[in-house]
Amino acid sequence: MTLEQLLTPVQLLADECVNCGICVKECAFLQEYGSPQRLATSWQDGKKENPFSFECSLCGLCHGVCPKKLDPSAMFLEMRRELVAKGQGTFPQHKTIRSYEKRGSSDLFSWYYLPDNCQTVLFPGCAFPGSRPQTFLRLFQCLQELFPGIGLVFDCCSKPSHDLGNVNHFRKMFAQLCQILNNHAVQKVLVTCPNCYRIFSEYGDGLQVESVYETLAGTQQKIQPAVKGVTVHDPCGVRFAAPVQESVRLLLQQLGVSVDEMKHSRQVSFCCGEGGSAGFLRPDFAKTWTDKRVAEAGAMPMVTYCAGCTHFLGKKAVTDHLLDLLFSSPEAGKHGPKVSKAPFTYWNRYRLKRQLQKKLPGGVCGTRKQMQAVSSID
Ligand code: SF4
Ligand code: SF4
Repeated sequence: MTLEQLLTPVQLLADECVNCGICVKECAFLQEYGSPQRLATSWQDGKKENPFSFECSLCGLCHGVCPKKLDPSAMFLEMRRELVAKGQGTFPQHKTIRSYEKRGSSDLFSWYYLPDNCQTVLFPGCAFPGSRPQTFLRLFQCLQELFPGIGLVFDCCSKPSHDLGNVNHFRKMFAQLCQILNNHAVQKVLVTCPNCYRIFSEYGDGLQVESVYETLAGTQQKIQPAVKGVTVHDPCGVRFAAPVQESVRLLLQQLGVSVDEMKHSRQVSFCCGEGGSAGFLRPDFAKTWTDKRVAEAGAMPMVTYCAGCTHFLGKKAVTDHLLDLLFSSPEAGKHGPKVSKAPFTYWNRYRLKRQLQKKLPGGVCGTRKQMQAVSSID
């Protein structure tokens, strides 16, 4: 058994962190609150009243740069969970994100389509289909050609609850989702969102997860992209998923787009500013991340592969979603395709569901609740 398996993240940081300061140098949150080792020791000493852990973006850059391979972000998540368990981790500022997650699994927006003998499903997450429905439809059509009999799942992976430390709710919701898929003998889940990728990879209960970027990297790309040279922003969810990062670069190469790498990429990528719902409590920390990312990109247009990152970074710099480059043409007179923002994203998700309900033939289909009922899941 390894030390990581024996000790909790707080114990590990308290015992093993050597206060080298490398992670602190990268992070405004740690610069304000102190080194991971001091925070861990103070937590062990019972100083647990300050909910500072909710201001960490859980981005994992500290883990990526740590010479001892320690993971302070896991410690801050542990602290959040402990506070939630004691009833001290609920903030009114998180109402919006909690509602967003709840809607994703609701009768209105959730929908499962599992054709006969379905082994693979596309799980597009919440933000991607809502913000760019046309890109989503073209992607799904392409995947239907690659995987005849592919299914589709509109639901939420419950990452917001995971990150807000509401571990019981997260486990219940995500286990239900996995159980529906397992009960119907689904084996593989294709995801567009790096956060869904991380959740399915860590908690997927035997389900194989693959990003659509890996799937598409082996296929012929016929699009002529509007950009010739870019830099890539790697989202935090796939910080340690090298095959996903590689497939994104391969796709760009196949499109004839050159990539100029930033210093903070792949394992040591910056957060876009949206991570861990930290910005609801500390918008200044979120802004610092966004500013650092944009400053490092400089004049290079950015390509990323997370709808949330594209939205956040796109407020300050030219940022494309890779799937838009692959599947959509720029809107006349604009840099990229039309991208919807809330509340229109909800309307798009509802419309997509209705449209596909009418179009997709046969199989088992229904909302999350209906699928739970046919699968006898509580
Ligand atoms: S997870 Fe990100 S925000 Fe949190 S301590 Fe590490 S580097 Fe800082
Ligand atoms: S980089 Fe690692 S060892 Fe250095 S202060 Fe951070 S957690 Fe401690």
